[in-house]
Amino acid sequence: MDPPPLHVVFLPFMAQGHMIPITDMARLFARRGVKSTIITTPLNAPLFSGKIRRDAQLGLPIETHVIEFPCVEAGLPEGCENVSAIKSPDLLIPFFKAMAVFQRPVEDLLRNWRADCIVADVVFTWATETAGTLCIPRLFFNGTGSFVVSVLHALKVHETCNGLESDSEPFLVPGLPHEIRLIKTQLPPFVRGDQSDSGIRELREAMEESEVNCFGTVLNSFHELEPGYAEYYRKVMGRKAWLIGPLSLGNKDGTEEKAERGDVVTSIDERECLRWLDAREPNSVLYICFGSTSYISDSQPCEIAGALESFEELSFIWVVKKGESLPEGFEERTKGLVIRGWAPQVLILDHGAIGGFMTHCGWNSTLEAVAAGVPMVTWPLQAEQFLNEKLVTDVLKIGVGVGAQEWSRGERKIVVGREDIERAMTRVMVGEEAEELRGRTRKLQKMAVKANEEGGSSNSDLKSLLEELKSLKD
Ligand code: UDP
Repeated sequence: MDPPPLHVVFLPFMAQGHMIPITDMARLFARRGVKSTIITTPLNAPLFSGKIRRDAQLGLPIETHVIEFPCVEAGLPEGCENVSAIKSPDLLIPFFKAMAVFQRPVEDLLRNWRADCIVADVVFTWATETAGTLCIPRLFFNGTGSFVVSVLHALKVHETCNGLESDSEPFLVPGLPHEIRLIKTQLPPFVRGDQSDSGIRELREAMEESEVNCFGTVLNSFHELEPGYAEYYRKVMGRKAWLIGPLSLGNKDGTEEKAERGDVVTSIDERECLRWLDAREPNSVLYICFGSTSYISDSQPCEIAGALESFEELSFIWVVKKGESLPEGFEERTKGLVIRGWAPQVLILDHGAIGGFMTHCGWNSTLEAVAAGVPMVTWPLQAEQFLNEKLVTDVLKIGVGVGAQEWSRGERKIVVGREDIERAMTRVMVGEEAEELRGRTRKLQKMAVKANEEGGSSNSDLKSLLEELKSLKD
């Protein structure tokens, strides 16, 4: 009789930017015969169901398991089950801390299921200890690439931020494979020593401890994208790491209809969106989207609209969030498609008509752009997004910054003017520089595809990870 398959349990943080790549990872594992169970909460469950149901119908061993999240008991408003439901920044730390309520129920499930491994997101700081109690490996997932982790590590060990006074004076991050210069305001608050964020600092320390002590880290990245940093992660930081991305590419094996890749409820019919793109010239459309949780400041949509109006010949797709308003008559006057709510981003980026992506530099969006060969107009807004921008503009040279150097959250809001926006759009969409950017991005896209093919770097890392997990089970 064949031994039972590996059973891996996935515990994603309740935010689209974490649930999407972890779902893709679970599907990737299931395609290799691993029984994959994703644990989620009632209000998040529908966000997973489309792809999971389709894969299960194909006979793949994948399912979701729903457990309650007692928000009110955890000091949060009723129904607050996703980062996108948090309306006040003051609730962010309580939301992170509330992840502790999952420890007991998840431990019971892992024990009852005799699970072989748990892949737990960075915020589940208790997961390494729980896995230790059950004598199974905990894999760590942090939703970023090795560049960001390496920069943060270098800043910490070299104590670079101690005594940094000027907000705008560039400084060198020592000990990295490239010359990386940052300014203080580009650093996440917990790094630049912002006292008001001590809650975050404590949490970061707990996260780091749980990563250092866990079995290893799975990264949504591929070796060729950030070779020096993957090495830094493994050799300088001494971590065991498998780079198995881009995860958005891993399941493209012909078993799913291209037009069915939507992850969550979309505000526009995917086919309608693709038909709109089909009628456009190759590389002629700029796609604008700032991710699932980041907001540009109030006056900013007007500046973007102004830039789009004066760049007359430019077609665009702009994902506008609830509460963001556009100038009157803007849609009628311009050649764009405005999507209110959720857009089928991966499908859009994959379409040949897309020539550029104005992005907040969330890691998933960045990787999805690379996987689609689309150069970027970078406009980071918060957290590690400024560091992702550095990788895109300074290291890989596949994007142009819009010039935002300040935090949009908090009091120090600045507005990026329409001239700066138009300049960055032009550089990425037309002319010689645009061609060069596109050429470099396409090269990386080819590498990303190759990494996922038989013998490629991500494919090999995935194989060796699964073999190692199997050997622990035997
Ligand atoms: N996304 C999408 N449609 C949208 C907005 C976002 O499909 O309208 C997806 C996007 O493709 C990516 C994820 O949501 O996979 C956002 O993750 P990212 O790390 O880029 O940013 P975050 O939302 O975490 O800041």
